[in-house]
Amino acid sequence: MAKVIDSKIPAGPVPEKWKEYKAHQRLVNPKNKLKLDVIVVGTGLAGASAAASLGEMGFNVINLCIQDSPRRAHSIAAQGGINAAKCYQNDGDSVYRLFYDTVKGGDYRAREANVYRLAEVSNNIIDQCVAQGVPFAREYGGMLANRSFGGAQVSRTFYAKGQTGQQLLLGAYSSLSCQVKAGKVKLYTRYEMEDVVIVDGRARGIIAKDLTTGKLVRFSANAVVIATGGYGNTYFLSTNAMGCNCSAAVQCYRKGAYFANPSYVQIHPTCIPVHGDKQSKLTLMSESLRNDGRIWVPKKIEDAKALQAGTKQGWEIPEEDRDYYLERRYPAFGNLVPRDVASRAAKERCDKGFGVNNTGLAVFLDFSESINRLGIDVIMQRYGNLFEMYEEITDVFPGDVANEINGVTYYKPMMIYPAIHYTMGGIWVDYELQTSIPGLFAIGECNFSDHGANRLGASALMQGLADGYFVLPYTIQNYLADQAVWPKVSTDLPEFAEAEKAVDAEMDRLLKIQGKRSVDSIHKELGHIMWEYVGMGRTAEGLKEGLKKMHELEKEFDTNLFVPGTKEGLNIELDKAIHLRDFFTMGQLVAFDALSRNESCGGHFREEYQTEEGEAKRDDENYFYVGCWEYKGKGNEPELIKEPLEYEAIKVQTRNYKN
Ligand SMILES: Cc1cc2nc3c(=O)[nH]c(=O)nc-3n(C[C@H](O)[C@H](O)[C@H](O)COP(=O)(O)OP(=O)(O)OC[C@H]3O[C@@H](n4cnc5c(N)ncnc54)[C@H](O)[C@@H]3O)c2cc1C
Repeated sequence: MAKVIDSKIPAGPVPEKWKEYKAHQRLVNPKNKLKLDVIVVGTGLAGASAAASLGEMGFNVINLCIQDSPRRAHSIAAQGGINAAKCYQNDGDSVYRLFYDTVKGGDYRAREANVYRLAEVSNNIIDQCVAQGVPFAREYGGMLANRSFGGAQVSRTFYAKGQTGQQLLLGAYSSLSCQVKAGKVKLYTRYEMEDVVIVDGRARGIIAKDLTTGKLVRFSANAVVIATGGYGNTYFLSTNAMGCNCSAAVQCYRKGAYFANPSYVQIHPTCIPVHGDKQSKLTLMSESLRNDGRIWVPKKIEDAKALQAGTKQGWEIPEEDRDYYLERRYPAFGNLVPRDVASRAAKERCDKGFGVNNTGLAVFLDFSESINRLGIDVIMQRYGNLFEMYEEITDVFPGDVANEINGVTYYKPMMIYPAIHYTMGGIWVDYELQTSIPGLFAIGECNFSDHGANRLGASALMQGLADGYFVLPYTIQNYLADQAVWPKVSTDLPEFAEAEKAVDAEMDRLLKIQGKRSVDSIHKELGHIMWEYVGMGRTAEGLKEGLKKMHELEKEFDTNLFVPGTKEGLNIELDKAIHLRDFFTMGQLVAFDALSRNESCGGHFREEYQTEEGEAKRDDENYFYVGCWEYKGKGNEPELIKEPLEYEAIKVQTRNYKN
């Protein structure tokens, strides 16, 4: 029988044993005993906004990132936009509606209370960012403009062309820089957290590596906040930046933090298809394109075969022979169904042989109708940089006229296919965003908190900034309140020394293997296993096979890895090897969770559990819980702990995007 936990773990009283450490304690500032230090790991939208806010509130913040500048965090990749319930379009939006759409979009597997809070603060985020000078798109009359994203029938997505993440990050960075200048935030760029240090059951610091010198550094603080992003790169090929890794989260998991819902992985429907075996990255074409682009494959199998053979082009197929399958299957939401639904529908068509490129793994995203209706200038204003990005990669410009059939002008369509994009699972946190380790908090994509089994488009930025600007800075104080009398610990404590020694020993171990395979070659193989057995369609048999293959490959990693160089100075291969070690732990965790969840919901699709129409079939009677996993050592199956979900405001029902 699995353990059951509650979403609120009280911080608890200061343990008696704590007094033993008095000899090591030092006051940060003898004149002000109440000064408290917080480590924030990560400078993406979640980390930068949290560090800036905590600094502004008077805490001393140590803020680290692996890039050379906070502005290069993966968050800058976000293209499409950020949701808020402002209802500027007067289309019936409200806090409740955003809350409802998010819970429904997550296939009723999110924690209701968290999502309501998220919807409530969504509007504050927009005000905060406008005040920082974020150049959101505006209507001619000056109002902020909106567009629609999947899973919603209102227009509530605020955007800055196709660069929303970058502009938001510049806003957060400017706030962060103010606090750096004020001396409240100390920034450590090119520093990587290697381990969290637990003293007397509480997170009291971290071991970080200076990536340029290779030196290990100890940081202590009254609390640690992890804002280190998602684990999508476990699959090797994903839309994530190549530096994205889950090592910090996995280290916290190894030290006792529960990992929640790892099987909830989002596969985004509109990515540029894989085109060969030499790729190390996939490119997203923003979901915003589904506002004006229509997704289709040919109706006739012979047309699909001709497209695959290259003897026919998409623009030679007339309107009546096109199958706009999302509009056909989901008339109410059409091309704007949520990502999990759109991805599965694309896979279904391609599996049936209707794929439109030489691999048979692509569908069209076509702007002909909207360009004919609105004109190319309007479309370019909305998606200009995305069209240019697509052209740069594929040499096809989606705004180019291609053909005319029966008086209808056809433009060159994009080709797209689903790819790994976002991870809804993450470190388990309570309502206050505290993990199961007191004093350790997790925010942004690295926690599991708000998206259930499927995240709606433009909601990650909303959650990251809600956590960083409006939730964590307040909730962390409930924890810190009882810490004020206990100044931060010395980094001379044996716990720090032990953690540092273990990190050092791991680096030695990896360097000493001196086998024959590069990190990337093994990572690529892990990615194939993940995609094949733990990807879009999963089965119990496949998951078991995937786990077996992962164990074998992990052995290969442990015995036949080659890492050149030394641990002194910059050694990118060594850093990648550490990340890959943790991707193995993560991949197995995803598979264990997927195997334990005998139902389909959101991003977790078990082929055994589907309706006759191929829709996900949930089992609320048996799986209406957050699946939290506790680490039990390398190679061992982790233990499942359940947090039952409680819904008070929303009626749990089958998702319907048809009518
Ligand atoms: C191509 C693309 C487009 C997207 N578009 C949108 C969109 O339009 N709207 C939307 O809502 N969402 C979008 N998303 C999702 C969204 O961008 C991310 O979920 C979000 O930016 C994550 O922010 P974060 O702050 O949690 O993490 P990240 O931005 O990933 O930042 C992680 C930070 O942690 C640091 N870090 C990591 N590990 C360590 C370590 N061990 N030690 C020290 N520092 C570490 C990194 O240096 C970085 O600063 C998109 C995602 C992708 C891939």
